Amino acid sequence: MKLVPPLGETADKPEPEPGTAPGPGAAAPAAANEAQRLAALLGYQILDTDAEQAYDDLTTLASTICGTPVALVSLVDEHRQWFKSRIGVDTRETPREIAFCAHAILQPENTMVVNDATQDPRFKDNPLVTGPLGIRFYAGAPLVNPQGLALGTICVLDSKPRRLEPQQQLALKALARQVVAQLELRQAMRQLAHESLTDSLTGAWNRRALDRRLQEEWNRHRRAGQSMALLMIDVDRFKRFNDEFGHPAGDIALAAVAEALRQSLRNCDCLARYGGEEFAAILPNTDVDGARVTAQKMMSSLKHSHWPLRPVTVSIGMAVQTPGPDTVATAIMARADLALYEAKSSGRNRIKLAPAD
Ligand code: GH3
Ligand code: MG
Ligand code: MG
Repeated sequence: MKLVPPLGETADKPEPEPGTAPGPGAAAPAAANEAQRLAALLGYQILDTDAEQAYDDLTTLASTICGTPVALVSLVDEHRQWFKSRIGVDTRETPREIAFCAHAILQPENTMVVNDATQDPRFKDNPLVTGPLGIRFYAGAPLVNPQGLALGTICVLDSKPRRLEPQQQLALKALARQVVAQLELRQAMRQLAHESLTDSLTGAWNRRALDRRLQEEWNRHRRAGQSMALLMIDVDRFKRFNDEFGHPAGDIALAAVAEALRQSLRNCDCLARYGGEEFAAILPNTDVDGARVTAQKMMSSLKHSHWPLRPVTVSIGMAVQTPGPDTVATAIMARADLALYEAKSSGRNRIKLAPAD
């Protein structure tokens, strides 16, 4: 059974007036909460991803339980329905205006069953019915997320008319809940992975992420024979700031420091909170001049930040290095740290470069 999207055949269909019921054979109107629904769908980061066994298992069960040759996990995107899993069809998507599932998601709590599409005024002229695919039977259970938003359906199709027994309907609904459980699980895991690598106060990467990224960049630069830079940045006299204004005000200032530093970096750079009031920045493919430009940008960005209590300054130690076969990744950090010590001991609020090895 081949599902070919007959794009041209639907181009002349009139758009339904907003808020009116769809006319015979018309595309389904957008759901009332369409913007929210689309935002939620994008948030799952599933569109255009590869097939996964967990979803294929669920369509296999749907097709087996309902006895149909076709089963799909269909996600209704702005202009298309896209199939995360598909059994019995080759196509990965069809235009939204001919999608049965676009109708099914309008009633999130109901499974939409079309026993014979040729007898249904909504679908009898639909090219999926009149065309080579010849759909007769459709049953789709909406994929309803915990916020009540219907993202798409798990649906079963056949080229001959059918009925769905009550137990089969129950099973299809249960499978819909399992699809959503998979979506939620993956989203939660992504969130956890992100949280385990970021610092909650400043939004910068944490020490664990820094160590990992430094090692990766070090290996990459060694292979490419390129130089990289590392900046160690420490807030000046920050104990005094806390003593004067209190720890909560210190926290706000630290977050502002991180923001100012971040604004000075390129996308490929990495800012991490090394600990306490100390940050580290990894600058890939960077020589001494490039490192100096970035450090100066940081100083300037801090100077122009909004400081409601008192301006905050930093000292910066820079090291630039082309990794050699006998050097370890932490070597560049030790050198930047020594340069930072120099910047502190020579008066603070300044940039020092580590001497060449
Ligand atoms: P220096 O210029 O030599 O770096 O002086 P300093 O006072 O910044 O350095 P010191 O190491 O003596 O003190 C660091 C201070 O940073 C003390 C500590 O309370 C403060 N600090 C570290 N982490 C945090 C934080 O998360 N929030 C706040 N508010 N303060 C922090
Ligand atoms: Mg300090
Ligand atoms: Mg410190």
